[in-house]
Amino acid sequence: MQYTEIMVRYGELSTKGKNRKDFIKQLGKNVKRVLHNFENLEISAKRDRLHITLNGEDSSSIMNRLKDVFGIETFSPVMKVEKDIESAKKVVAEIVKSQYKPGMTFKIDTRRQDKNFPLNTHEINDALGGAVVNEIDGIKAQMKDPDITIRAEFRMNGIFLSSLTISGAGGLPVGTGGRATMMLSGGIDSPVASYLGMKRGVRLDMVHFYSPPYTSEQALAKAKQLTEKLTRFGGNIQFLQVPFTEIQEEIKDKVPEGYLMTVQRRMMLRLTTALTLKRHCKGIFTGESLGQVASQTLESMMAINDVTNLPVLRPLSSLDKTEIIRIAENIDTYDLSIMPFEDCCTVFTPPAPRTKPNLYRTRECEAMIDVEGLMERALDKVKIVDIKNGEEFLNAQEDVFSELL
Ligand code: ATP
Ligand code: MG
Repeated sequence: MQYTEIMVRYGELSTKGKNRKDFIKQLGKNVKRVLHNFENLEISAKRDRLHITLNGEDSSSIMNRLKDVFGIETFSPVMKVEKDIESAKKVVAEIVKSQYKPGMTFKIDTRRQDKNFPLNTHEINDALGGAVVNEIDGIKAQMKDPDITIRAEFRMNGIFLSSLTISGAGGLPVGTGGRATMMLSGGIDSPVASYLGMKRGVRLDMVHFYSPPYTSEQALAKAKQLTEKLTRFGGNIQFLQVPFTEIQEEIKDKVPEGYLMTVQRRMMLRLTTALTLKRHCKGIFTGESLGQVASQTLESMMAINDVTNLPVLRPLSSLDKTEIIRIAENIDTYDLSIMPFEDCCTVFTPPAPRTKPNLYRTRECEAMIDVEGLMERALDKVKIVDIKNGEEFLNAQEDVFSELL
């Protein structure tokens, strides 16, 4: 079917007044951003719905993109026809035909906003239903739980016909929930946590620690590629790469082995806090999940969290690994995440990190390194990249490699 427009229904719009306006405005912006390469579209975000007029653009690729936009409850492809019953009959029969399989039932659900239309609701239902029965042998009308429901809206500016209701991503439009940083590694968990943060309307800036030469160019490229994968949920993402080599080397030199990991994590969180404040972000997301590894016990979190006053949000804290993997597969980050590049956290990891570090001992251990100086030098060398949908980082790397071979 070549539809003429797509009608988008808003999600969680329980809030009123200004919040509601912000929600609609931001969703409109996000939809425009996601669909920017379809040049002929007209997008208008109205009070209760958003309309996308297709002007000949392909409805199915547009609907594929819309499925990723947070703040959308459902959407329907719609056919707009002239306000005359004969044109409506023809198109309704066509829509039903395109979905019909033997044995299916149907129903016409008419809303008549244009009170001057010559037929009343009953008469419209009869006329459209009759057209379907004439056109498709053996099809039966059924009022309760029909297989196909045609919604026919008779408005002042035309007749709008639709039959499919497609689930959107739910959540809140990215940008309505303020801005936060996300500690993004190259693993499975942090991209999933990013997705869940964005789902609640938060715009995220990625903070990634890397330790050349212990970690490769490819590990960095992988984190950027994961970020690229996440752009389809909210548009461009700022990626902050923070050099971590000097810090790790000094910790390795000076801190007792049992506390290496805890002190490293504290330095990561200290640096992230500094960047968060500098960028006027209001919180820090991580991909931590309770009980997964040594650094993710409550004792460990307490010893690490000690360095910040900012809210640290952990959307995965109660999810099982299998649940996390399922989401990673759905958002298409899993295959990238399992590529085996060394992460800076696995460099210098002692064989048995302490699972229950003592907070006071942790502070003592951290005092063995030059916290201020190390932070200043790392922050001086932070690089910021703006990552756009469709950019390639890993494949570009492969080319470099094949040239070297
Ligand atoms: P992930 O799958 O996200 O790597 P994980 O289960 O491997 O998580 P850790 O490696 O202990 O667990 O990391 C816990 C969290 O710490 C990560 O989810 C991420 O938020 C943060 N983190 C770890 N390594 C880095 C890094 N190199 N850069 C930025 N953040 C990191
Ligand atoms: Mg990891």
